[in-house]
Amino acid sequence: MFFYRLLLFCFATLIATLWLGGEPTPATHDPTHEERAAPDEPGITFNSVHVAGPYIAMTFDDGPSATLTPKLLDLLAAHHIKATFFVIGENVAEHPEIVARAAREGHEIGNHSWSHPNFGKMSDENVRRQLWRTDDAIKNATGKRPTLLRPPYGSITAREKRWIHDEFGYQIILWDVDPNDWKRPGPAVVRNRILQETRPGSIVLSHDIHPGTIEAMPSTLDALEAKGFKFVTVSELIRAATARPARSPAEAPGNVRAAVTPSPSPTSAPSGDQAQ
Ligand SMILES: [Zn+2]
Repeated sequence: MFFYRLLLFCFATLIATLWLGGEPTPATHDPTHEERAAPDEPGITFNSVHVAGPYIAMTFDDGPSATLTPKLLDLLAAHHIKATFFVIGENVAEHPEIVARAAREGHEIGNHSWSHPNFGKMSDENVRRQLWRTDDAIKNATGKRPTLLRPPYGSITAREKRWIHDEFGYQIILWDVDPNDWKRPGPAVVRNRILQETRPGSIVLSHDIHPGTIEAMPSTLDALEAKGFKFVTVSELIRAATARPARSPAEAPGNVRAAVTPSPSPTSAPSGDQAQ
């Protein structure tokens, strides 16, 4: 009887050990769930920011576009609005003068990869090459290295976030407002979605490579201004952040966490399209 109990105990211990040891490492997690891990990484990943004032950040991805980005820059200048451009390295190499103009006019330039691949499915070496090439292209165009990264499709694993932050110093910027403008739903839909979803501290995603997005912007910016929103770059928004109330006591100003608003299903966009 004792022997059987001992055997049972050993067996149970073995199962428990195997089960615990078999927990998947963060690197193997599905990247679509990684944003929920963001609170473990204070100050690295942001979907939105908790701010005391009516501050928001408009972000424009996938450019520069030879025709549309200059139009958008004219509009932003007329409104005295500073935005953030997450640029594609290939496009920067083709139109460095547009990126230089954006930087000169006070906009922030962030890294959005060289050719818009899915980081969640790539080797570290290939991700590293995508980031360095783009970092260099931005430095050549503007004289300054970027400090922000937006991974294409919002797809990035927790492990990638960590080493990219350690190696490049980047903060990883997602979004909380997504008008799905890459599906080209028409300017009115783009405007209405942005107006409905934008809150103080929002990071608004859109793309300066789609004509409908650029068409939507004059009335979108007018309406956001009428609601009292103030436009800042992403880095300014993060600097304006205050600690979220009713969270861990360890959290203090300067130790800002990513918002825990539901992630915008980062890999939901079909790859191969120009989303995010
Ligand atoms: Zn993109």
